Amino acid sequence: MKNLYNNKTIISFEVFPPKKTTSIENIYNTLHEMKDLSPDYISVTFGAGGSSNNNLTVDIASRIKNKYNIESVAHLPGMHLTKEDVLKLLDDFKEHNINNILALRGDPNPLVEVKNDFKYASDLVSFIKENGDFNIIAACYPEKHIEAKSIEEDIENLKIKVDAGTDQLITQLFLDNNDFYSFIDKTNKANIKVPIQAGIMPVTNKIQTERMVSMCGAKLPTKFVKVLDKYGDNPLAMRDAGIAYAIDQIVDLIAQGVDGIHLYTMNNAYIAKQIYGAVINML
Ligand code: FAD
Repeated sequence: MKNLYNNKTIISFEVFPPKKTTSIENIYNTLHEMKDLSPDYISVTFGAGGSSNNNLTVDIASRIKNKYNIESVAHLPGMHLTKEDVLKLLDDFKEHNINNILALRGDPNPLVEVKNDFKYASDLVSFIKENGDFNIIAACYPEKHIEAKSIEEDIENLKIKVDAGTDQLITQLFLDNNDFYSFIDKTNKANIKVPIQAGIMPVTNKIQTERMVSMCGAKLPTKFVKVLDKYGDNPLAMRDAGIAYAIDQIVDLIAQGVDGIHLYTMNNAYIAKQIYGAVINML
């Protein structure tokens, strides 16, 4: 299966299935707006342990691919799944013409039993490789994964995941591009050769910042804290400042030769449009 790069800087969007209280029509409308931007692909998250409505991941990824003719990527966290579960999902993906999988370990859902078939994402990558012809994507962490003792140890583990059959990588969000450049240097030294897309999340409100720091341990650079202090209590100003901050990061990343940008859109087509429109001529 070929990867999603055509010797150019790619840009992709990430969306998530609606929470059980939200109508599926909302995400359909969002996709309808996003499709006109023609990103290189759109990926759809999958809540580990059923924290979101997982069959919707296939439904939404299928709509992206088969209705809008845009490549889609289905996320697949393995820690709460058995080999049998994964085989069924692989069949489902194939049936819906979904050729790209973001293989993940996931984070434990305390209400759901952890299965032991896929302890690390690398176990899932090897299993997918053995059981189908998929383009396999995996996650990586410029500021290290929150559980890793050091960035060096995390990169050693990343090398195992890449050698297991990962075709391309997407980073966790980061707010200081220097963290990304330093990470790229280290992956080069570790002989990790697959393309690495920079994950960018436009931070457009204060609550999102608090969540982000507690969930993935992202560092808040002084430049960003100043933006938050100045505009955090003014929702419209904070939205626009968050968009401007993300554009600023992306312009610099493209100029430095990044392989691609993966935009965590938070299902917000307006934000995706503003950012895409600002950088499209630079790709
Ligand atoms: P792994 O690669 O398995 O790494 C997890 C930890 O184990 C790291 O500390 C690593 O250093 C260590 N490790 C790895 N291999 C070994 C080894 N062989 N020996 C010892 N230690 C090892 N979660 C979801 O539930 N659904 C989603 O849709 C989703 N989408 C995501 C998309 C992106 C782009 C990113 C960056 C994350 C996403 N996540 C998602 C979150 C992800 O599941 C968590 O970050 C999770 O904690 C780690 O997943 P991983 O696949 O990176 O794990």
